[in-house]
Amino acid sequence: MNVMTAFSLSGKRALVTGGTRGIGFALAKALMQAGASVVITGRDADRLDAAVSALREEEGAGITGCVLDVTDTRQIAGVISAIGPVDILVNNAGTEQVCASLEVDEKLWDTIVSTNLKGAFFCAQAAAKSMVSAGVGGAIINLCSLTSCVGVPGAAAYGSSKSGLVGLTHALSAEWASNGIRVNGIGPGYFETDLTGVFYQDPAWCAAMQAKIPLGRFGELEDLAGAVVFLASPAARYITGQVLYIDGGYLAAI
Ligand code: NDP
Repeated sequence: MNVMTAFSLSGKRALVTGGTRGIGFALAKALMQAGASVVITGRDADRLDAAVSALREEEGAGITGCVLDVTDTRQIAGVISAIGPVDILVNNAGTEQVCASLEVDEKLWDTIVSTNLKGAFFCAQAAAKSMVSAGVGGAIINLCSLTSCVGVPGAAAYGSSKSGLVGLTHALSAEWASNGIRVNGIGPGYFETDLTGVFYQDPAWCAAMQAKIPLGRFGELEDLAGAVVFLASPAARYITGQVLYIDGGYLAAI
């Protein structure tokens, strides 16, 4: 293996769920820069078209979009059969609504867990079936979270779904290694997006959180690019079942 070329994703096809904005958009861009052709998904056709156009303008032709709500397993199977086999799946689509645990109702729980955990499993299953039938193996990367391993008030459903994703990463990595499919996770620390934006409006919260991050700042979306490209690439060919936390040192210091 030549280490200089081992990070290239040239000739690879990647599917990024929830690529219309935030982290998914940034990861799609990173995969394109590494040479992959990328399909992004989202629930809203207009938002999807806008994201595809923006990525095409910034990174060139290797981008398409597919409408997909990951809570609908039939849609997942339809999208995978429409786009054909992929080499890389990034299970990024996710949702959160902070809510005191005494107030969480079944609908809220189901929305969060169905999107973050059930959706990720069925996307992984559909992608893995396509990888197995193409006989080429592949790489799956699940978006975990600090709440996978730290208790955060108001995040019972979200934290449960993200802890579940760590378990899913372990289980699938063990089961699909013999098919040449590696399954890893990345766990972003604090990144300002639509999902988390409400926190960043509170200067006291920002100051307190930043003080807990050894590298002294919140994450920028580009900070995630190297990790996703690495885990997707042949450079990580002997790495499976791992979650890489990209948090400026937060977890190591608390
Ligand atoms: P955003 O809210 O900015 O983006 C969420 C993305 O997920 C959108 O593209 C949205 O697409 C898509 N999405 C949401 N629900 C569904 C659904 N049911 N079906 C298909 N797509 C869906 O969030 P982030 O970019 O911040 O988060 C991306 C991932 O990273 C999530 O899994 C999140 O849990 C995780 N994460 C984020 C952190 C952060 O600090 N921001 C920290 C740790 C983890 P659309 O609305 O267009 O359908």
